[in-house]
Amino acid sequence: MKNSIYNYSRSSFEEYFLKLGSPKFRATQLFEAVYRQRITDFSEMTNFKKEFRLKLEEDFRFEHLEIVKEQVSSDETRKYLFRLEDNTLIETVLMKHNYGFSVCVTTQAGCNMGCLFCASGQTKKKRNLTTSEMVLQVFQIDQILRESGNRLSHVVIMGIGEPFDNYDNVLEFIRIINDDKGLEIGSRHITLSTCGIVPKIYEFSDFPLQVNLAVSLHFANDEKRSKYMKINRKYGLHDLLEALRYYYQKTNRRITFEYILLAGINDSINDAQELVKLIGGMNAYVNLIPYNETGIFKRSDENQRRAFFDYLMKNNINAIMRKEQGHDIDAACGQLRLKEMQCEEESSSNQ
Ligand code: SAH
Repeated sequence: MKNSIYNYSRSSFEEYFLKLGSPKFRATQLFEAVYRQRITDFSEMTNFKKEFRLKLEEDFRFEHLEIVKEQVSSDETRKYLFRLEDNTLIETVLMKHNYGFSVCVTTQAGCNMGCLFCASGQTKKKRNLTTSEMVLQVFQIDQILRESGNRLSHVVIMGIGEPFDNYDNVLEFIRIINDDKGLEIGSRHITLSTCGIVPKIYEFSDFPLQVNLAVSLHFANDEKRSKYMKINRKYGLHDLLEALRYYYQKTNRRITFEYILLAGINDSINDAQELVKLIGGMNAYVNLIPYNETGIFKRSDENQRRAFFDYLMKNNINAIMRKEQGHDIDAACGQLRLKEMQCEEESSSNQ
């Protein structure tokens, strides 16, 4: 099959054109035609000679993700269920904030990290998403927003999957959406979230774009973290924190720690104390996330969350309590996809 045109960053196009003996600026022209003019038919690329257009046509195709379902929540969070070309279903969430619109991008079909509290982990990884499948989640949703006079401002790489387990495709995706000749999502408006694949944190320290890094910490004690997040059995807290200090040294960028508050599991003052001990003095902040209940775990109640937050603040840890969005449409990771798969499984087992 021909390669999807959305797999190519501008520098990848440059390599392509170089091989054909064409000047570099052709890459910019093509990139602009795809992402600025949003052309989806080579015959409309009139600034390329006909023979050239035929060559492009021979090598590339315009891919499109089918929208199977769109759910709108009372707070205007929208959840899209996309069908990929091989029938894999993925979901993407669009959120409205006072500062603009953000999209939460899925990086893998399923996930192998197996965090016990996460719905995505209940379905094994089927495959990595290609760069184009990530680009199109952003591009198609931005197109929908544009049709109502808005535009996308932020991208969070926090949907289903572990971005550092699909490293090369995710980085190429970031280069494409960030390119100032294309979608122009500012690097500071892009956040990548990892559960803590330590070697990739070192590698990511050399990535030249100023993307935000968030780490799903959730537990400040190895025993607990290893119990609920199996990645911790491989890369424990000591190694993780060392990698993050290195990252900070190299990039000077403040790290975000995500911490879901799970009732009776990691929400006591003792847990908060351990957290202060672990990350005190780092240039970081903690994002306290209300748990979206998906199975056996319960979210901490408001008072407990408040007490945890106050303790952090009193101990000079910057923290914010993240507002929950899309609760009524199951916007938590993996929930819609899981339901849809269960429905499909049920309907196929009924046949
Ligand atoms: N694999 C990456 C990115 C995907 S998960 C990572 O682990 O960071 C994005 C965030 O959502 C993670 O912090 C994850 O722990 C959190 N999360 C998973 N299930 C959740 C739930 N039910 N409610 C709230 N947050 C959840």
